[in-house]
Amino acid sequence: MKKTVKDINWAGKTAVTRCDFNVPLDGDRITDDTRIRAALPTIKYLMENGAATVLMSHLGRPKGKPVPEMSLAPVAKRLSELLGKDVIFVPSDAVVDDKVRAAAKVLKAGEVMLIENVRYREEEEKNDPGFAKDLAGLGDVFVQDAFGTAHRAHASTTGIADYIPAVSGFLIEKELRFLGEAVNDPKRPFAAIMGGAKVKDKIPVITNLLDKVDILLIGGGMAYTFFKAQGYSIGTSLLDEEGLELAGDILRKAEEKGVKFMLPVDVVAADEFANDSPCGVYPVDSIPDNRMGLDIGPETIKLYCDTLATTKTVIWNGPMGVFEMDNFAKGTKAIAECLAEIDATTVIGGGDSAAAVAKFGLGDRMTHISTGGGASLEFLEGRELPGIAIIEDK
Ligand code: ADP
Ligand code: MG
Repeated sequence: MKKTVKDINWAGKTAVTRCDFNVPLDGDRITDDTRIRAALPTIKYLMENGAATVLMSHLGRPKGKPVPEMSLAPVAKRLSELLGKDVIFVPSDAVVDDKVRAAAKVLKAGEVMLIENVRYREEEEKNDPGFAKDLAGLGDVFVQDAFGTAHRAHASTTGIADYIPAVSGFLIEKELRFLGEAVNDPKRPFAAIMGGAKVKDKIPVITNLLDKVDILLIGGGMAYTFFKAQGYSIGTSLLDEEGLELAGDILRKAEEKGVKFMLPVDVVAADEFANDSPCGVYPVDSIPDNRMGLDIGPETIKLYCDTLATTKTVIWNGPMGVFEMDNFAKGTKAIAECLAEIDATTVIGGGDSAAAVAKFGLGDRMTHISTGGGASLEFLEGRELPGIAIIEDK
């Protein structure tokens, strides 16, 4: 178990807290403040428990230089509104300078300050020890609460912990609890649903999960590479040439390990990659040469939903079809609805899968939606994330 903010006596201490305030901006207007709201429980806990709180985050890709359009100033303003208390913003092109150090030093218990976008400095992504030490010098304990960047060893996510002790905030705690329990201590039967575009991207995840799951359901673009590996013709569907051999390996491994490996039995295939393209439903052994599969078919939806209804834990990564186009979103939507209904722990990992669930308005019907796209994938691959590894054990 990792230490959390609750394991620290905060009286007289300053928490240097890494948040994910990478919010979408239109000029200086925040168009979606979900990530700021998500950070509130940890910040409020620190405020109420005697800590002075220095917050830091990245925003966009300023590539190591100050870019005024990517300043965190609008975040400080929004955060002040949400907390009902002034958040002190100390702008600095250097992110940490004497002025910032002085402000952190006089910060009192219950007060909150935000420093400038850490990616204004090229030392951030290089995990430069000098910059990490500068960040650490702003306080006494590092609070890691940005899951979306926890798979990156940067100064503000990893290096800082070389200088001050690290604990997790509530967001990270939740990710570790749900992703960790689902993968390592699941209630069974345990199923994983894998979809998305490319097999190659997901091979490490599938390989890791094959050792853990009882059932693996495949959908999305990656299914066609498996069909091809089985000798079916797939028309003009997405084929991951590089992943073809690996798909064959996976099919063999699943059999060896006794994992129930399910592929779609029918697909929706269209003339073109366009929402209004003529399309039809085909069994997988008769996909027309001139058509591409863009969604799972109705028989597959029924088969998958019946199977999922028997499970107690489900991890879902990767949409079942091109859900961005309404005509090819049915499979993804049906699976999301099925997960919303069943009596199982349901965990969604992956940026597009999370976006799909949100698009269908089913976000609050899932047990947990991971906030880190790349980070959740690496977690499901069974890798230890550098930004998690540095958090002290209890
Ligand atoms: P995640 O972000 O959840 O890990 P991926 O990034 O792997 O998911 O895959 C998402 C993408 O896969 C979506 O943009 C979706 O349109 C695409 N996709 C799903 N099914 C197909 C298909 N049959 N053909 C082409 N692209 C597909
Ligand atoms: Mg994606």
